[in-house]
Amino acid sequence: MEALARLMRELEDQLVVCMKCGMCQSVCPVFDQTGRESDVARGKLALLSGLMESMFDDPEGVYQRLNKCLLCGSCAANCPSGVSVQEIFLKARAILTGAMGLSPAKRLILKGMLANPALFDRMTEWGARFQKVFTRPVNEVVGTSCARVMSPLLQNRHFRTLAPEPFHKQVPSIDRPAGASGRRVAIFTGCLIDKMFPGIAHSTVKVLDRLGVGIFLPENQGCCGIPALSSGDLATFHKLLAHNLERYDNGEFDVLVTACATCTSTIHEVWPKMAPESFRKAAERLAGRTMDINQFLVDEVTLEPPAASVNRIRLVTYHDPCHLKKSLKVFSQPRAVIAAASGCQLNEMAESDWCCGMGGSFNLQYYDISKGIGMKKAAQIKDTRADVLATGCPACMIQISDMLSQAGADIAVRHPVELLAETLDE
Ligand code: SF4
Ligand code: SF4
Repeated sequence: MEALARLMRELEDQLVVCMKCGMCQSVCPVFDQTGRESDVARGKLALLSGLMESMFDDPEGVYQRLNKCLLCGSCAANCPSGVSVQEIFLKARAILTGAMGLSPAKRLILKGMLANPALFDRMTEWGARFQKVFTRPVNEVVGTSCARVMSPLLQNRHFRTLAPEPFHKQVPSIDRPAGASGRRVAIFTGCLIDKMFPGIAHSTVKVLDRLGVGIFLPENQGCCGIPALSSGDLATFHKLLAHNLERYDNGEFDVLVTACATCTSTIHEVWPKMAPESFRKAAERLAGRTMDINQFLVDEVTLEPPAASVNRIRLVTYHDPCHLKKSLKVFSQPRAVIAAASGCQLNEMAESDWCCGMGGSFNLQYYDISKGIGMKKAAQIKDTRADVLATGCPACMIQISDMLSQAGADIAVRHPVELLAETLDE
């Protein structure tokens, strides 16, 4: 209750910053689909101004309207008053969930599974073993599958399946000293890379090894906590934060890198702001030395130029994840990584930084809107005639894979670091 009261006081101070200018309308992907003022930041902030009263009248209604948001940060990135929109929405969700409680399904998933990393690992390993019974491959190039029988949860989605073996089983830990570069990094793997895209983690290790960068990869990492916080479950978020800080805070390394834009942005931006007083300093310390892998490779170590002659040319287009470009201002570095991968030629799509429509649980709750946003992205990708769509966030990879596959496009979906790692041996 003390934490919620503090959040309420902070929220009141932050809300008055909005001038109600409406400049957030033109950049909001949800408003672009629905045209409703209640879906844009200005409308939601107005709703929250009366939170104390409306919370007791209709908390469920307020929560639903607040939830219809991708937390993409497009509004905040374009706000002339510097309103911390995502931070306000996260605090408001925590306050409302604190008052109403979690739904039984969310309680089971967040408190029962996500909050217990070892159990979450076991459950997803079981899921990986049995998923073939319920799914069948649908697009080999994109790497998608669909449900064998109609399922209310999966609907007509084309999804990426769980990897047969998660990364943490293949590589439980690493502790290697700095090599020729004189640098040593810690790696935060992230749930999606660990369980769905272990190839990205292998590529990260391979590239760092080649550049003579030492690696610290601790065992038994937890989720960064953003799925819990997005659902207003502050207690699970705090539990995961404490779990991860215990593994990294005293480690000897220069920089913490992740290949997941959402994890990077959460550790860098959200952990210090939403940590409880007791470990806020530790969260700030770690946030201060956290970096996206592309940013580390380009800004902190020197990438070799690609070999002069290559056997094949691949046309690559790049999607800017909101959590990289809008939250962390990282956009030139992933393109430099692609340019350093031999045989890759970059061809920019229109509106490369328009949100893909994923938004975590938003995709589950508002799939029609999510698909409307994502299909626009798929059409822009197809227009480039690229062979490969590259992006720096595994959540964007899931959404774009679904959209490209449903649009009948045979375009591979990769992380920039995978493209670089593939060409290291050529
Ligand atoms: S959030 Fe920012 S851009 Fe949107 S109405 Fe308020 S001040 Fe204007
Ligand atoms: S975070 Fe994104 S979806 Fe949410 S209100 Fe802002 S621009 Fe719209």
